[in-house]
Amino acid sequence: MLDKVVIANRGEIALRILRACHELGIKTVAVYSTVDRDLLPVRLADEAICIGRAPSPESYLNIPAIITAAEITDAVAIHPGYGFLAENADFAEKVEQSGFIFIGPRPETIRLMGDKVSAIHAMKEAGVPCVPGSDGPLDDDDKRNLQIAKKIGYPVIIKAAGGGGGRGMRVVHAEASLLNAISLTRTEAGTAFGNSSVYMEKYLETPRHIEIQVLADGQGNAIHLGERDCSMQRRHQKVLEEAPAPGITEEQRQRIGKICVDACLRINYRGAGTFEFLYQDGEFYFIEMNTRVQVEHPVTEMITRIDIVKEQLKIASGEKLSIKQEDVIIQGHAIECRINAEDPKTFLPCPGKITWYHPPGGPGIRIDSHIYSSYQVPPNYDSLIAKLIAFGNDRHEAIRRMRNALNEVVIDGIKTNIPLHQDLIMDANFKQGGTTIHYLEQKIKN
Ligand code: ADP
Repeated sequence: MLDKVVIANRGEIALRILRACHELGIKTVAVYSTVDRDLLPVRLADEAICIGRAPSPESYLNIPAIITAAEITDAVAIHPGYGFLAENADFAEKVEQSGFIFIGPRPETIRLMGDKVSAIHAMKEAGVPCVPGSDGPLDDDDKRNLQIAKKIGYPVIIKAAGGGGGRGMRVVHAEASLLNAISLTRTEAGTAFGNSSVYMEKYLETPRHIEIQVLADGQGNAIHLGERDCSMQRRHQKVLEEAPAPGITEEQRQRIGKICVDACLRINYRGAGTFEFLYQDGEFYFIEMNTRVQVEHPVTEMITRIDIVKEQLKIASGEKLSIKQEDVIIQGHAIECRINAEDPKTFLPCPGKITWYHPPGGPGIRIDSHIYSSYQVPPNYDSLIAKLIAFGNDRHEAIRRMRNALNEVVIDGIKTNIPLHQDLIMDANFKQGGTTIHYLEQKIKN
């Protein structure tokens, strides 16, 4: 097993990784920016190193500082968490070149999947069903682009090959706006992601977002842990997730799961990963692969009783996967609410001091959070402050437990989106299950 790990992240995920490390007897090094001195993982880690000032380019995105932290603490591996440098192939490469283990896939895999055009190409070759689209990046040939859109059929969506976080996408409903949309998305993508490559897909109008969690050891073994439904989104960002996905049959799960496992083996995938699909009219359409642990991984952990972060650490230490596909038994239902420090109506971030925090409890309740009473939420980073997870023997029980937990939790001093979740968990259509990716936006509008 690994001896000492640098946790190159902050917030709840840094704490989540720290807990998994300590459970496995691995020593931890927290790295932090100057505003994060009082962060829980910094207090709980065996060692902590300040890596720079608050703006993330100076700290959590500062590759030399993070590698130096590993060097001076004699760590053997670096866990990137999610966000920040987690899907940066250059970072993974530099980590390995400096003699450390990167807890994630090989740099070339991250690079392949980081460009959505090459990811789709690779997945198509591996037999994964994809959204009908341009089969590659769009060039400057207007006539050709108009033809591609006509062939796909409107509406289409123009997407940045290097996009992420729900940004770099534009829906086009009619031919008249296609060329302008391509050039706007191209310009935005160049500025935002340093990669102006864009591609076109059929815009699915009533899909659900369903994704498959995989684990692979890079030594010829891979399994899937079933699916999650992440259709509750605002601005293409997930708000509430659940597992299993309502209405997906065991036969569908095993079929799409096997396709993902075969694709992992084909690209010799290593680590935890997620295949994201849009699901419409009984069909799955691959949109992208995330080569890291996901924010919503706990719902899968609850229904499979498999600790995904511990598996990541074991794989990174060179162990073979000890879990076989037939050992993965899905039981019960889990829901996760992402609690953000934001105004529940305007969605504007609301950093500030938490004057009082009381976490909820009781059977089936899990809270992954780094906050505490008197914790100051800094304005510099993502507004996620807690993940509230409810497990039940069935979906109904999970919903009731989540409702109670949302009523119990107290986060005073700052605004949060808890009222939105309270509303959502009691929503008649949500209770029924299977709402599309547009449902939440429409609900908010009304
Ligand atoms: P990102 O990397 O920014 O998360 P994704 O490709 O995963 O981008 O897409 C994020 C979300 O955007 C999806 O969950 C879905 O809501 C929407 N989306 C993406 N592609 C399509 C499409 N072809 N049709 C309809 N919605 C789409």
